[in-house]
Amino acid sequence: MTNDKSQIFSPVYVPECLNLLERFPNAKMLAGGTDLLVRLKDKINQPDIIDISHIEEMKGISASNDKIKIGALVTFSEIIESELVAENAGVLVQAAEMIGSPQIRNRGTIGGNIANASPAGDSIPPLFVLEAEIEIAGMNYSRTIPIKDFFKGPGKSILTDGEIITAVIIPKMKNWEGAFVRLGQRKALAISKVSLALLLKIKDDKIEEARIALGAVAPTVIRAEKTERCLVGKKFDNDTLLEAKKIICEEVSPISDIRSIAEYRKEMCGVLLEEAFEQLK
Ligand SMILES: Cc1cc2nc3c(=O)[nH]c(=O)nc-3n(C[C@H](O)[C@H](O)[C@H](O)COP(=O)(O)OP(=O)(O)OC[C@H]3O[C@@H](n4cnc5c(N)ncnc54)[C@H](O)[C@@H]3O)c2cc1C
Repeated sequence: MTNDKSQIFSPVYVPECLNLLERFPNAKMLAGGTDLLVRLKDKINQPDIIDISHIEEMKGISASNDKIKIGALVTFSEIIESELVAENAGVLVQAAEMIGSPQIRNRGTIGGNIANASPAGDSIPPLFVLEAEIEIAGMNYSRTIPIKDFFKGPGKSILTDGEIITAVIIPKMKNWEGAFVRLGQRKALAISKVSLALLLKIKDDKIEEARIALGAVAPTVIRAEKTERCLVGKKFDNDTLLEAKKIICEEVSPISDIRSIAEYRKEMCGVLLEEAFEQLK
């Protein structure tokens, strides 16, 4: 993969990695490699690689009183197997189950999915509705950013040179019900054309709180705030769904690209909302 001149480093601590990033500013970080290696495959001049996959402090899932912390190197297979995530953030497990293939889920990490900053990244709509925070380390500091402020556009985030994502922090979401649904060219191994994460707090058949995030309909994942507002206080029934479907299709203004045309994406937002509602019934 590397040319004669390129080097591979394997730091085992975050500060060691930050040091390498400072010394080799053009080096690329490699976690599971499922995005990066595809991008580098045909490049003649290969960059230096900082293989971060051996940094123990970025692995594992832990819990405190009201939050769970998922290390940036946690793979989608580990998310699927985690009872802690299933109990507190089931919508993320649903998304992880739909990613790629077993091989991709065994190697692909949540940190890599976020750093990649694709509006079609499947872990991102669930993280938006969960109102997750991204933990970032830089030389001699760390900072935590709400996920809604992390992305700047396709492939662009607020991550600066010399920074690394170390973990994702998610508030425990008991008493909420969630669903993640997506539409791709095929059921497996296809990038989402449109995706939707829904979280509802329902009491006595009434929607008390609602969160909806949409993937692949804008330069970054977005919250469907008008639709959320329309749901709050309403009965969890078909009339409410019909009203919400209309609003969500009006609320988005997607683009046409090689995967889909704008009008289809708009319509599919309503269809996916209906699918997500069905899952919660
Ligand atoms: C066949 C195939 C199918 C796929 N299917 C899906 C799918 O269904 N849904 C989906 O969302 N994605 C899919 N992907 C994309 C990919 O698997 C995911 O985005 C995965 O989460 C990337 O994680 P990784 O650890 O492999 O990242 P890597 O490839 O190692 O890294 C990706 C980028 O993120 C940077 N990076 C990685 N970790 C960090 C970190 N901790 N801090 C800062 N920067 C970091 C790297 O430098 C690189 O630029 C697919 C990819 C393939 C090849």
